[in-house]
Amino acid sequence: MSSLNSKVVYMDNNATTKVAPEVFEEMIPYLTDLYGNPSSMHTFGGQVGEAVEQARERVASLLGAEPQEITFTSCGTESDSTAILSALQTFPEKRHIVTTRVEHPAIKNLCETLDTLTGHKHRVTRLKVNSEGQLDLKEYEEALSDDTAIVSVMWANNETGVIFPVEEMAAMAHKRGILFHTDAVQAVGKIPMNLKELDIDFLSMSGHKLHAPKGVGVLYVKRGTAFVPYLSGGHQERGRRGGTENVASIVGLGKACEMASQNMEEENSRVRYLRDKLEEGLLKAVPKSLLNGVKKDRLPNTTNISFEYVEGEAILLHMNRYNICASSGSACTSGSLEPSHVLRAMGVPFTAAHGSIRFSLSVYNTEEEIDFVLEKMPAIIESLRQMSPFWKGE
Ligand SMILES: *Cc1c(COP(=O)(O)O)cnc(C)c1O
Repeated sequence: MSSLNSKVVYMDNNATTKVAPEVFEEMIPYLTDLYGNPSSMHTFGGQVGEAVEQARERVASLLGAEPQEITFTSCGTESDSTAILSALQTFPEKRHIVTTRVEHPAIKNLCETLDTLTGHKHRVTRLKVNSEGQLDLKEYEEALSDDTAIVSVMWANNETGVIFPVEEMAAMAHKRGILFHTDAVQAVGKIPMNLKELDIDFLSMSGHKLHAPKGVGVLYVKRGTAFVPYLSGGHQERGRRGGTENVASIVGLGKACEMASQNMEEENSRVRYLRDKLEEGLLKAVPKSLLNGVKKDRLPNTTNISFEYVEGEAILLHMNRYNICASSGSACTSGSLEPSHVLRAMGVPFTAAHGSIRFSLSVYNTEEEIDFVLEKMPAIIESLRQMSPFWKGE
């Protein structure tokens, strides 16, 4: 399809982000001259090992953790799996997991296949959310039991940006002697964290959601928390994760964390201003449009808007003509368009869930881009509605 705008307007940062030029710059030597194995005895490998340790310190500093609490993995998905499977092996007699109905597939699908993976029968409680995407802490408290091995609750939702009160939830789990994991892939860099002060045992993050490359992640394991590796093998990562380190990407992730910790508040408030301008503009300009997710406790970069009586995927195709990149809240599974499990859990009505679009911004978006999207979207929605058999006008 030919494009009507040569420059890409990228508003799909919850799917993946651009590698920051400064990050790429720091990676180059480790893809060229400094190719040693960080585990080698010689100085050539040793200096590569030092770069990995510097990256570990930078990650720890962003999270308010200690370097020994940081293990590098291949992605957020691996970190999620490692945390859950470690807890289940630590407490083989406990067969209950508490999670939510709106987790990323990395946790959602893992919980569905646990019985096969561990050879045990597990009971999984999936906490409900209300129409604004929020959890009920009373339901959570009642779900915790002596049989619960681990709680896994994401820090911020990737589709709506809604933030969960994980600090409080972790404390509640710890009071009962239950381990707590949070998938913080979307939260790191957008929410200030000080893990030293929290009861979180495991935290997952991913490089490519934070302007570092794809294929590198982190699992934070609180000092003193029992840990069973997922990938055994070599003694890399102090025996916590076998496999020769993805050095260049780890170095890149370290730099990305350093950049995120500098001016976090300032950068996020600029992104929030742009997001709010986009959100308010769209809700005002397009009739029958609704915000999905609570307005207040939300990531600064994300907005999820339903345009009633149109298909999300059709909207995306029209946006694509202008090189505007975003995501829809419905996915084509086995030939039929299914609204996302997140929007279904929130009880978003059928006619709205199908027409939902997620815009997720980054520090690289500009006000001109927001104005461009605000200029194009109303006409796109209007033209699709004219073709819709369900649309009967305002
Ligand atoms: C992207 C994402 C993941 C998966 O991370 P990968 O590094 O792509 O495996 C997990 N959880 C959330 C909330 C995400 O947004």
